[in-house]
Amino acid sequence: MKTLLLPFLLISSLTAFAQNANQIHQRAILVDTHNDAISNQLITKVDLGKLQTTGNFDLIRAKTAGLDVQVFSIWCGDQYGNGTAYAYANREIDSLYALINRNPDKIKLVRTAADLQKTVKQNKLAAMIGVEGGHMIEDRLDYIDSLKKRGMTYLTLTWNNSTSWATSARDETLRADTLKHKGLTDFGKQVVKKLNNLGVMIDLSHPGEQTFNDVMEITTKPVIASHSCAYALNPHRRNLKDYQLKAIAKNGGVVFLNFYSGFIDSTYDARHEAYLTKHKPELDSLIKIYNDYDLASIRLNVINKQESDQFRPPLSMLIKHIDYMVKLIGADHVGIGSDFDGAESYPLGLDSVTDYPKITAELLKLGYSEKDIDKILGGNFIRVLKANVGK
Ligand SMILES: [Zn+2]
Repeated sequence: MKTLLLPFLLISSLTAFAQNANQIHQRAILVDTHNDAISNQLITKVDLGKLQTTGNFDLIRAKTAGLDVQVFSIWCGDQYGNGTAYAYANREIDSLYALINRNPDKIKLVRTAADLQKTVKQNKLAAMIGVEGGHMIEDRLDYIDSLKKRGMTYLTLTWNNSTSWATSARDETLRADTLKHKGLTDFGKQVVKKLNNLGVMIDLSHPGEQTFNDVMEITTKPVIASHSCAYALNPHRRNLKDYQLKAIAKNGGVVFLNFYSGFIDSTYDARHEAYLTKHKPELDSLIKIYNDYDLASIRLNVINKQESDQFRPPLSMLIKHIDYMVKLIGADHVGIGSDFDGAESYPLGLDSVTDYPKITAELLKLGYSEKDIDKILGGNFIRVLKANVGK
């Protein structure tokens, strides 16, 4: 009797757990602070309003995933500079506006926390704009005003490339001897002041440590890191050291965890490099097709799925980064910024937005309270948005 009953009880309690996890996930406001779907779509021309078989995001899958708020990254590489980068950013914003105009029943642009909450109640995806790279303001303060008018909610002070006024993590660590300055210049300090005054969040995911420290000294508002992981678990220049995590918590800000395998797993880069060397001719021809390295490497992994899956980290490794940060700085300062559609590899089991509920289930398994899960999934973002915008 006992032997028959035990497996039954186990299965029914597992089912109850899954139902509970899903209910908590669907009820919570889920915010993702970083996704590159819009910049990719400008090249691939896929319609994100329709269900897609490629990429990590579209409006149909976002709905089933319980995704409520997506900050779309507006991004261009360092081949764009003064005279071209601002125009390119605006083309991407036009493209997001067009997606919204084609799907008014599914998605709406929001600028404030009040607007966000209203839109979520209407069962639509609240879309926001994050400009990833200070080079898109082309050294002009008035371009910050213009981008803010179009909906910019955060500005990542640099992407991998430094600007004339702020140095990036890549340049501070790999090209320090070539830099004319390190950290924020006087103009950089004016940019920070302007962003604070306008209520545009400052994103410190890509800037170097000197820029980070200079910003933290003068910002009057809570900052964010829209897509970064913990340096203590993987010493990658794009991840944040413990003192940086603590400084963000002290400032009332939030760090949003990136899902990219290379930021989560310290063994990933070497294995990925070897794989790229092996597939170099294939990668080169894909770069010619897309004229974009990131898209080409994403496509290369899709084509060689079985092989590239072998060096994806387990989902538990991402959860370790989340748990590490929560233990170090508290659940009030941690969130999610997937970098979906911006990287070639994510942990096994995280293939698209439809897999977000797995993260909620894992946090519940670790004993996280519903209240803390609510904060991590979206509450912390709403708090920091309100603190910057004022409503
Ligand atoms: Zn990035």
